[in-house]
Amino acid sequence: MKQRAVFYDRDGTLIVDKHYMHEVSKIEYYDDSFTALKQLQDKGFKLFIVTNQSGIGRGMFNENQMHEVHEQIVQDYKDQGIEILDIEFCPHCPDQNCECRKPKPLMLERLAKKHNIDLTKSFMIGDKVSDGECGKNCGAQGLLLKVSDDRFKTFENLQQITNYILS
Ligand SMILES: [Zn+2]
Repeated sequence: MKQRAVFYDRDGTLIVDKHYMHEVSKIEYYDDSFTALKQLQDKGFKLFIVTNQSGIGRGMFNENQMHEVHEQIVQDYKDQGIEILDIEFCPHCPDQNCECRKPKPLMLERLAKKHNIDLTKSFMIGDKVSDGECGKNCGAQGLLLKVSDDRFKTFENLQQITNYILS
């Protein structure tokens, strides 16, 4: 049977946005970064991170630095009993017009194929309208944090989103 998933944007969604952040020491979570995800995991949702990291394409940091940050994030969640199953990233600048950068759906489609996910029963969550569009573009439901757009529901924090998904 196909699984349901929640795909999270990284900066400004799971961790505090520090603009092209690439240092492990600067990772900072929100109050509900762990509890909100744990409740979804307990209900059977698979959890993923999908992130645009154009700082790589812009030459501000390299892919290894980003992987170090991602390994730390995955470990921090693991320490709280939460499994981030996989992370997809786009390293390109917007002007490279690649196939992966959100709001294009390719990163979610890749994860769905690899992990047997039913996108129509899944959610894409982020603090940018492009995150909502990314979900919509692959048949998932887009939910926005702290930014509003007529096409999507907006929430103040991750816990409110968890409550909505589980309601
Ligand atoms: Zn890309």
